[in-house]
Amino acid sequence: MAPFLVMPTVGCCIPVSTLPDASGGAIVITKPVGQGPLARNLPDDVKVIQDALNQVVVNGEAGGPIPFLVVDGIKGPKTQAAIIDFQRVQVKIPNPDGVVEPGKQTILRLDQIVTPKNKFDLNAKLALALPLARTALAAAVRNITTVITAGPGFSLTADDRLNRHFRLDSLSPAEQSSARVTLFETFSEMALVINQPDLFGMFGAIEAFDVDPSNAKIALTRPQGVFEPAVIDGGDNPARHIRLGFGFFAPTVTPNFGAFILLHELSHFTGRRDGESIDDHGRGWFNDTFIVPLSAEKRLLNADSYAGFAFECLTESPVKPPFVTTAPGGLGGAR
Ligand SMILES: [Zn+2]
Repeated sequence: MAPFLVMPTVGCCIPVSTLPDASGGAIVITKPVGQGPLARNLPDDVKVIQDALNQVVVNGEAGGPIPFLVVDGIKGPKTQAAIIDFQRVQVKIPNPDGVVEPGKQTILRLDQIVTPKNKFDLNAKLALALPLARTALAAAVRNITTVITAGPGFSLTADDRLNRHFRLDSLSPAEQSSARVTLFETFSEMALVINQPDLFGMFGAIEAFDVDPSNAKIALTRPQGVFEPAVIDGGDNPARHIRLGFGFFAPTVTPNFGAFILLHELSHFTGRRDGESIDDHGRGWFNDTFIVPLSAEKRLLNADSYAGFAFECLTESPVKPPFVTTAPGGLGGAR
């Protein structure tokens, strides 16, 4: 089965085979985590603390780990240092003991910061980002339609956008014309998912999304998840939603940033119209370090190239938005 792609706050989507536990609610550990004679460091407890410490960063509070801890259930030196930092900065302990005990002040403070998000929070955030994503996709389709119907040279702006984001000008005329049709079909399909979700058997655009209340990452999407069955094992199939984690709810995720994230995830979620998966060959804007070397072929399979093109069609500005960061493709960009 295809893995989910998880979007961390920094870097590329990382493939994971299992979904994080989305039970949410209070932070609960069974035995102490950290250092000293009390610490047991049971893997599940360590994971809970690692995930919670990451969410401190996502929520914009001081004292969380940068870069994020790997949530692997192993209490290594980075996790230990993060516990001590958090105690010093957030619990105001002058000489931190470096251990998180059930029901004690460190975990209570963690709990206070890491407020679980719910569907209501998700809908409020989507209410601002989703209309922008819709407008961006409509503008993208219009740009491509202009070039297809009137031919290259009719709209220099539309040509220029396609060339900068997808390097169509590096292809032969026949390849260019086929790439434009593929782009037209792919952007149209991404737009259909949020404009006419009933065509995909969904009751509304919101159904394409789900909240992942205990996940510090921004988003999780299974490639071509829109074609997964709606029901699996008698229940809702999580693969059929773009799942938005804590990262999506951070104050730094403005409506524009939110729209960019939705565009990126929608490209994974639908895939390319010819059946190819859209992956992360590089993160960033068309003129960023990790995008510049990508060939037209790679860009036509690259999520941020789709998000960047549609976003520029929305704003009509080729200037890189402040929230777009560059990172290498694949696992190299993961933290
Ligand atoms: Zn991605």
